[in-house]
Amino acid sequence: MRKQFIAGNWKMNLTLEEAGNLSRKLRDGLKVSDTVDIGVFPSFVYLDKVSDIFSESNVFVGAQNMSIEKCGAFTGEVSGPMLKDVGCTHVLIGHSERRTIYQETNSVINSKLKAALLTDLSPILCVGERQEERDADKTDEVVESQLSEGLLNITSEQVNRLTIAYEPVWAIGTGKTATPEQANEVHTFIRNTMRDKYDDNTAQRLRIQYGGSVNAENAEQLLSQSEIDGALVGGASLDSSTFLDIVSIAASI
Ligand code: PEP
Repeated sequence: MRKQFIAGNWKMNLTLEEAGNLSRKLRDGLKVSDTVDIGVFPSFVYLDKVSDIFSESNVFVGAQNMSIEKCGAFTGEVSGPMLKDVGCTHVLIGHSERRTIYQETNSVINSKLKAALLTDLSPILCVGERQEERDADKTDEVVESQLSEGLLNITSEQVNRLTIAYEPVWAIGTGKTATPEQANEVHTFIRNTMRDKYDDNTAQRLRIQYGGSVNAENAEQLLSQSEIDGALVGGASLDSSTFLDIVSIAASI
């Protein structure tokens, strides 16, 4: 039985004050739940404050990206040890916005995953196809290479600390959602690929979140699919009551 994991990707949004208010509303509104893991992923500059607010709660705080390097002359970068220092336990790796806008390749993503794991951060690896790839029937091929190249030389012990988020690029921030059946089909493909690459136990333990315009209206149908173990929520995570509703839905499944 895999525990549902609901994560909020705040992207490059909010002011310091708004990030604080949203965190306090979430902290105060959350009923203690053993059945759902919850995480928030604010901008780098708010991590310290947000971690502080959640310090007495069981909400994970994570970053949206990290450097491959530990320290040194890498202007503008933020390292894994720095993220640990401000209370992060998790980090998003390979979000489609990093892949498309910042040209992060599977090989860069593989190095970031290794850097995260070496720093004792739990990564969420994001994978997913673009609209034209789905239209060309290439979804499995694209996701397979994101997994095999992204997870190159990563061991099954390390995979036990990993979450995968299946995020079809055409569904991110567009209001279009994969149907529960479409999502479950790709999640099944991901789990089978992980079984082939690792072993049955590793594949069964792995949590696979769905991401792409998840909201309080579509969460129940998506989360009740057998292979969907949670959600990575973008836009809807900026509204405390919507995010709390999605967490409650996950707890009820
Ligand atoms: C995301 O950014 O990971 C995401 C899924 O965004 P949205 O929910 O807004 O589509």
